[in-house]
Amino acid sequence: MPGFELFGEEEKKHINDVMETGIIMRYGFDGPRKGIFKAIELEKRITEVFGCQYAQLTSSGTSALTTAMAALNIGFGDEVIMPSFTFVASFEAILSVGAIPVLVDVDETLTLDPEAVRAAITPKTRCVMPVHMCGSMADMDALKAICTAHNLILLEDACQSIGGTYKGKHLGTIGHAGTFSFDFVKTITCGEGGVVMTNSKEVLEKCDGYTDHGHDHKGVDRGADLHPFVGYNFRISELHAAIGLGQIEKLPTILAIQKKNNHILRSYLAEIPEVTFRVVPDPEGDNFSFLSWFLPTESLMRAFITEMKAQNILAGNFYWYDNNWHYIKKWHHLKEVTFLNNVSEAQKAALLQLQTQDFSVSNAVMSRCISTAISLTWTEEQVHDKGAKMAAAIKKVLELAAVSA
Ligand SMILES: *Cc1c(COP(=O)(O)O)cnc(C)c1O
Repeated sequence: MPGFELFGEEEKKHINDVMETGIIMRYGFDGPRKGIFKAIELEKRITEVFGCQYAQLTSSGTSALTTAMAALNIGFGDEVIMPSFTFVASFEAILSVGAIPVLVDVDETLTLDPEAVRAAITPKTRCVMPVHMCGSMADMDALKAICTAHNLILLEDACQSIGGTYKGKHLGTIGHAGTFSFDFVKTITCGEGGVVMTNSKEVLEKCDGYTDHGHDHKGVDRGADLHPFVGYNFRISELHAAIGLGQIEKLPTILAIQKKNNHILRSYLAEIPEVTFRVVPDPEGDNFSFLSWFLPTESLMRAFITEMKAQNILAGNFYWYDNNWHYIKKWHHLKEVTFLNNVSEAQKAALLQLQTQDFSVSNAVMSRCISTAISLTWTEEQVHDKGAKMAAAIKKVLELAAVSA
């Protein structure tokens, strides 16, 4: 899964280029930097590799989402529809621009259920934010149709699905804007970083200013820049962009290894009739960083986890249903409105009602699901060994359940 597993000379070379001049800031210092612009170079590579017109690097995936929302004019009073299964960054970004996160159920794609999205639309809805979790995608045709019909913004959180595609287009380039995260555990990494991708020049220009205190970057130097609007500092550094330049060239290799290992592992689980797999709207477009699969019931899945723990081989298997960071069930800080700063009454009211909102549809999906992370460092022998051990553990719990039934 994570690109850091393949760090090598390429990342070092780009880092050393930057350290030759010592100019680790992406803007300014045009003389001393001697023509070295790693962030600009990476933005160009991103547009080429992923097939979008514009890319704006940021300090993180979270700040990329925040930046995209600001650039798309999403803010106070606006409702943004997001899934109940995602990383906390999704609602953090929505709240940071003053908007209201509206959480809806996921289906067996592990992403937004289009029917749940439709049912959640109100006159205040401005944006639908699918999150392409664990390497695979939401049903983009259905979501696009809903957004078009209701005149809504489609913002893709593709932070976890770098390199994934839907009907030939890269995830993150299909909506009005899309984001990747380049944090340390993502498919390719800058250490920390993110990007907003868009085909709108206007959105790009807003992202460009917003991530650098509102600078229009049109002055003869930074002091002469104008500030057409208020921004923040969500800049990436040249050192982080340098690492990304090494990583982006490894993406085809990373995807190929993931695909191969994923297929081997899947072949073991596919032999068990009780195991089903995540629904993938475009199976060709999976980035294969995880194998997500289901057992028929929550109790069988919990028995499997207990068995894997007992054998000390559970590592790398993510049971999101009990996870503190990825599922509504454990987001107590959000549901209890535990913020350091005061929040608006509208945000507070919307968050408090999450305590009683019915997520039984999501629960029924997530309580039966495990995502197995695919490592880039496994040998073929190790993948076969893992597959065999997992399949044996599943068969064991199924047999025990059959006996006790
Ligand atoms: C990682 C991640 C983010 C945020 O990325 P950071 O770079 O860690 O801020 C946003 N959304 C999802 C789904 C993520 O997995």
